[in-house]
Amino acid sequence: MKTGMHKLISLVLIFLLLASGAFSAEIPENSAAPQASPEPVVKPDILNLGGYLVLVNRDNRISRTYEPEDLVLPKVETRKKSLQERIYLRQDAASALEQMFAAALNEKGYILYATSGYRSFGIQQILFNAKVEEVGSKSKAQYRVAPAGTSEHQLGLAMDIQAPSHLNLSQAFGDTEEGKWAGENAHRFGYILRYKTEWRDITGISDEPWHFRYVGIAHATAMFELDMPLETYVSYLEKLPEYVLTRGSHPLLTGLVSDLMNERQPQHLDLLFNTQPGEEEAALKLATEPYLQDGLTYEQAMWYAYPTPKPTAAPWVDTDEEVEVSGSKSGL
Ligand SMILES: [Zn+2]
Repeated sequence: MKTGMHKLISLVLIFLLLASGAFSAEIPENSAAPQASPEPVVKPDILNLGGYLVLVNRDNRISRTYEPEDLVLPKVETRKKSLQERIYLRQDAASALEQMFAAALNEKGYILYATSGYRSFGIQQILFNAKVEEVGSKSKAQYRVAPAGTSEHQLGLAMDIQAPSHLNLSQAFGDTEEGKWAGENAHRFGYILRYKTEWRDITGISDEPWHFRYVGIAHATAMFELDMPLETYVSYLEKLPEYVLTRGSHPLLTGLVSDLMNERQPQHLDLLFNTQPGEEEAALKLATEPYLQDGLTYEQAMWYAYPTPKPTAAPWVDTDEEVEVSGSKSGL
């Protein structure tokens, strides 16, 4: 017994030494440093869990314990009133959804319903198991319901949408006026239509005209213009500096990805990679200019992608006071 314990301790020690790299080959200090690679070694935060562009699918799973910290109840219509207290999204995704639903109503008179937002790993597991039960096998079930850990709903960034004219989640939603409007306009508010029939081989999911994913306006609009699924889009973004991903507008992102996809060298790619801290804004502006179209200015593109918050309902203060010649502030 005692010898066994000693053996175990020795094995653990050896493992720890190996794991700590104690036996790894020494690298001479004066060896030539590798040439700086234009490809970032560390994935930018925006592409990782917690970031708005994180890719989740069967090859990129979320851990059982992940739960977003900023879940809120979006103030939007739901099919049943009772759902209003049960549908959660992350803060930014929720305000974007509110704006999208308000625009559908104001611009077209369409009512949209939020149906399913954040789902925990456990809830997703229950839904998947129920689908397996229904269709008879896991492989068939996974085309209709994402297995736990592979659903974007666990991110708090995905929303399933219905309309009063079509009260179930089916392909036919894509043929309704509301469904068509959502597919054509969601990007203006930062959402993408995540699954399309022609992307099935890439996404592994059938057409889901009701499922929208929040990524932010700049990226949603770039993906809409490129007509590209998230999987393909992020594979190009991994080759770009982080500030381009967090501060670039849609003409720049669309242009860069389009160039990279067609194996053209983007005009200012070197500049974007070799910018000094504090000079990013100037580099973004210069790099965006070749891609601006239809009379759009850089400032307009930036304001569209990163709109300033709308004024609140706080009382309006008139600062345009009349200046009195005497200098006194009147008799008040
Ligand atoms: Zn969904």
